[in-house]
Amino acid sequence: MNSHYLSTSRSNPQFYTFSQRFERGASCDSFSSLDPQWKAQAQQAAWLDFWQREGHEFLEQKWHEQHPEYKQEIELATPEERTAWQELWERHACDQSAHFWHIFSCVFENYERDLSNGLQGVGQTLDEINENLSLLDIRQSDDSAASAESGGEDEQYLTANDDPELLDEEQQLRLLGLPTSFGVPGIARKRRKPRQQPASESESDNDPNLVIMPDDKDELLHGVQSRVIKKKKKPQKNSKVPQFMRDDILLRKYWFRRFSLFSRFDQGILLDRESWFSVTPEKIAKQTARRLASDVVVDAFCGCGGNAIQFANTCSRVIAIDIDANKLAMAKQNARIYGVSHKIEFIHADFLQFARATRLRPDVVFLSPPWGGPDYLKQATFDIEQHLLPLGATRLMQHARRLTDNIGFFLPRNSNIQQVIALSHIGQQCEVEHNYLDTRLVAITAYYGDSLLKSPRPDNEP
Ligand code: ADP
Repeated sequence: MNSHYLSTSRSNPQFYTFSQRFERGASCDSFSSLDPQWKAQAQQAAWLDFWQREGHEFLEQKWHEQHPEYKQEIELATPEERTAWQELWERHACDQSAHFWHIFSCVFENYERDLSNGLQGVGQTLDEINENLSLLDIRQSDDSAASAESGGEDEQYLTANDDPELLDEEQQLRLLGLPTSFGVPGIARKRRKPRQQPASESESDNDPNLVIMPDDKDELLHGVQSRVIKKKKKPQKNSKVPQFMRDDILLRKYWFRRFSLFSRFDQGILLDRESWFSVTPEKIAKQTARRLASDVVVDAFCGCGGNAIQFANTCSRVIAIDIDANKLAMAKQNARIYGVSHKIEFIHADFLQFARATRLRPDVVFLSPPWGGPDYLKQATFDIEQHLLPLGATRLMQHARRLTDNIGFFLPRNSNIQQVIALSHIGQQCEVEHNYLDTRLVAITAYYGDSLLKSPRPDNEP
């Protein structure tokens, strides 16, 4: 049976995953051939499922963030004041649900399109896709871990030509970690709320850098004050662009993403040029680690440690392998910053040789092999048999399967999904997870192996 889910965290940038199981040998087709009315219904059903399950808790959380005084004041409130609070709550619920619906529908549409692109040329029947989509389930991922993150900037949509001095307003919002895609363009500017309305709520209201200031020209409305929001300057510790990046137009845009790569970037994270392009963004690494939680995990191409660090939080033992001793040294230092170096064994080796020689039988192997640098995006569809290094995907899987059948495979967002599915054993399923930051697809993670697929779908606990 195919299964689907959407997860989202509540901090900036929004992080979503959609996941679907595919069976090797079953045919797949593009979503574009689906009846639009049916798609709209599926989307609506998925949304309702999500909102009914998660909505109230979310509304409450936002409400108390917005109105910390509420708990105290409601105790002593007069009937009039209670009515005003009630009106405020209703407006809050309405605004929030509209806001999230909008976000949800954007990501849903992107997922349909991205999956279609990846599946192009593969012939799943309309009925099968309809049936799959009807099973869509949405869930909200762990938020506590996400909220512990600092920074959280996601500037992945900036182009290499972006100069921090010349950024337009939308780009500045992105740099500040504020939403730009969902109709709140003015949020960074001084903003006055209409009287008798609650402070407008958006993702940015979670931002610790936003200070809520009472507007002294506005009167109190039954104890509820209109607000003006001013942007406090984000403290910029150690945030000077290194010279080697300043001179490199391609790298410069990655600098803007540093906190989405490592939330503790400013504490001394080390990355070489290659790693800036290839390290897994922290939210995705966390999701993968939740999904692959086990006793012993092998991170076969550990690089500077983005994944290994997160595995250390969900697995008892992490074996982190890399062929490059400098990368391992950086990974060690980065793991120290996250306080998990004692849980990771760093092994300087060629994974292919390691797989041939070792007697180790880990529970899970995680493959995040070189994609060949940022050029992978120049291809409409990334051929995972031709362009992955050091070997094509099938041969890499053969090596990994010497150790275990339970494998996570981190792949370019434009990977040929047909090839991804074909990596399953004959007649078996794999799960293909599309990872979105904000509304954009960043990468795909595929999961293989009985125990990974039989295990409950990723839940909210890290
Ligand atoms: P990308 O091409 O996606 O930028 P990288 O070049 O950063 O990826 O490769 C990921 C990591 O894999 C690097 O740290 C690299 O040293 C490591 N690596 C490459 N080949 C092997 C191998 N055969 N065994 C182990 N690690 C390897």
